[in-house]
Amino acid sequence: MEKKIVVIGGGPTGLGACTRLQQLGHKNWLLIEKNDYTGGLATSFPDPKGFWWDIGVHVTFSHYQYFTDLIDQGVLAYAKKHLEALEEDDKDLKIEKLWCTHKRECWARFDPDSFLPYPFQNNFFYSKNTQVIKDCFDGLLEIYANRTNPEFNQIKNFEDLIYKKFGKGLAEHFMIPYNLQVWGYPAKDMNHTWIGERVAMVDVQKILGEYIQKNEPKDSKSMNWGPNNTFRYPKYGGIGAIWKGVGYLLDENNLMLKTEVTEIDIDKKEVKLSNGKSISYDYLINTLPIDLFLTKMIKKTQNLNVEDIFERHQKPKHSKVNVIGLGFECDMPEELKNKSWMYFPNLERSIFYRLTVLSNYSPYMVAKPGKQWSLMAEICETDYLPERKNLIDETIKGLLNENIIESKHLDHLISKHEFSSEYGYPTPYLHRDDFLNEIEPILRRKFSIYSRGRFGGWKYEVSNQDHSLMQGVEAADNILFGCEEQTFFYPDHVNGRKEQTRRFVLN
Ligand SMILES: Cc1cc2nc3c(=O)[nH]c(=O)nc-3n(C[C@H](O)[C@H](O)[C@H](O)COP(=O)(O)OP(=O)(O)OC[C@H]3O[C@@H](n4cnc5c(N)ncnc54)[C@H](O)[C@@H]3O)c2cc1C
Repeated sequence: MEKKIVVIGGGPTGLGACTRLQQLGHKNWLLIEKNDYTGGLATSFPDPKGFWWDIGVHVTFSHYQYFTDLIDQGVLAYAKKHLEALEEDDKDLKIEKLWCTHKRECWARFDPDSFLPYPFQNNFFYSKNTQVIKDCFDGLLEIYANRTNPEFNQIKNFEDLIYKKFGKGLAEHFMIPYNLQVWGYPAKDMNHTWIGERVAMVDVQKILGEYIQKNEPKDSKSMNWGPNNTFRYPKYGGIGAIWKGVGYLLDENNLMLKTEVTEIDIDKKEVKLSNGKSISYDYLINTLPIDLFLTKMIKKTQNLNVEDIFERHQKPKHSKVNVIGLGFECDMPEELKNKSWMYFPNLERSIFYRLTVLSNYSPYMVAKPGKQWSLMAEICETDYLPERKNLIDETIKGLLNENIIESKHLDHLISKHEFSSEYGYPTPYLHRDDFLNEIEPILRRKFSIYSRGRFGGWKYEVSNQDHSLMQGVEAADNILFGCEEQTFFYPDHVNGRKEQTRRFVLN
């Protein structure tokens, strides 16, 4: 008899598990999703004026060939189902025409009137503030002098890492305030094990070389840093097109949309659903936030003392993300025409930490391509930060303070969109790894539960779409064949290469 595998949540992780099971010919699986569409946080909505919005900027790049194969099939399936939205020339459904490919143009608004190339730590010398440049170099020279001092290089937490690997100047002018804007918690309350490819490290000699050479900011050599220096974006339907499309590839008989899981009896291996039914399983793949799963979903049992585990390692911390979209109908400011996204480290000038020119990702993110344009701001919220209110007004104020738009543009602001997701970022809080190292084997070995994905697995370093998808794929492979799960257990390994062995093909 085939083992019954129940998957909770139709975001990228759940879709990864199910596409894999289907591809391998395993028939006994069921995906339960509360929405009437698939995609989870990687979802897009059109507003009443025809502007499309994602839940925060989604830059799609791939560490896995399986992911690349699958998302091509996802956008194709979406395009087939929404042929009426396509330009005549794209109706031949050639996959390459269904994507827009971009070279990343990413900048930081450090000075209020000019952009510095990203990452700031390698480009601070483009600032107009000479004191800042001096402070940053002083700090870098200090860490360089200490580079072989083992005591100096012992790292306790993220704040410690910032001071010891970037120096005091960079820490205080940029890294500490910027990270507070993004994470909503002080860096001293975060661990540093997640950094990997997420934060560009500094090389003092290289920075000095670039400083002396001082190319134009647009020609800065470090502009190409990182894995997402080129990225693809669906031409139609926003980022959500990928994951709605992947949902269309699944066998409808195994898909329960508009159905919410309301309780799980982990002793009996049974999930209760909002339609009153109960379903039993041999294995469960959970993609809901692990804190909610443990405290709200699981029926109390003597066999798992959740409170005790929280008491020892703290309850997982996360931040909420608020997304503000502004749609304009007029000429776009010249400075924005080549921008992908921009970072904003100064809390006094702007409430948002990141701003995306979403209409630059695909012309079809607006109803009238060429005539309209759109900005999407992301605002973090936690119980540590001051209360955040009137977000649309505050965003507009920030855009004016930062000289991104002028007041004349407000006469052409025709659409305002606001969306909040309680779960935005899984914080790498200090005791995260202790918590995960204790709870994960208990769930998997004792109860046959794989808790995976952005919040199911709670590892920020492997929480992008490609990682999430592969956490689902690898969980399925582990259940069926016992293959080791690389993404969840070895983030640095998967982030350091491209996995080519698994391929996705349509059956
Ligand atoms: C602000 C932000 C920016 C991001 N930027 C990027 C980026 O630049 N690049 C990138 O690759 N990725 C990015 N991501 C990550 C991407 O969105 C995630 O990888 C992905 O959505 C996580 O997938 P998941 O399946 O683990 O979880 P989710 O997407 O959260 O899916 C969980 C699913 O469970 C469903 N569900 C919840 N409760 C129940 C219930 N009781 N019963 C049934 N179903 C339920 C939900 O409706 C949802 O569909 C970003 C995410 C956010 C929030």
